[in-house]
Amino acid sequence: MIKIGVLGLQGAFREHVRSVEASGAKGIIVKRVEQLDDLDGLIIPGGESTTMRRLIDKYDFLEPLRQFGKQGKPIFGTCAGMILLASEIAGSDNVHLGLMDIKVERNAFGRQRESFEADLDMKGIAEGYNAVFIRAPYILEVGAGVDVLATYNDKIVLAQQGQFLACAFHPELTDDHRLTAHFVGMVENSKKTLAS
Ligand code: GLN
Repeated sequence: MIKIGVLGLQGAFREHVRSVEASGAKGIIVKRVEQLDDLDGLIIPGGESTTMRRLIDKYDFLEPLRQFGKQGKPIFGTCAGMILLASEIAGSDNVHLGLMDIKVERNAFGRQRESFEADLDMKGIAEGYNAVFIRAPYILEVGAGVDVLATYNDKIVLAQQGQFLACAFHPELTDDHRLTAHFVGMVENSKKTLAS
């Protein structure tokens, strides 16, 4: 069975485990670096990216997470997790994992829209998907190898670059598991490729 870890340092990790299991894979809360060796893919949840980064440093996760991605294993960053994956953060010199060629802006939908829901069409994945945004970032720019899979009001809110997937919203908070199932499919494919 496919094993997908959910980084469990901070944020909405338990709900992701539920969504992974509803998509037919085993979901594992990851709190120690050694657990990464046993995983086929990883989800970095939403929460608060600066707090999560502090905990990543405290528990020496930064380099092991980078290596996990560089080995070709899939990583799905949602909301704060997307900020952690990005190669550039607008208005900041900070880069966390820097694994995905996207420039993001934090809290980008503004104060009036701290939290909202929107219907999205996600290219090749789902139509009429109810996405929950909470103090959400969006993607300002993508590099050449990045596929834009969904926009909302012309802002990029879902993108994929090879084994890396990033979304601005919280896919774990509804019972619509189609995006998580897409990630599980990416992990299945990579497991076959990495084994051959
Ligand atoms: N605004 C948060 C941050 O910058 C992300 C919000 C979220 O993950 N729901 O980290």
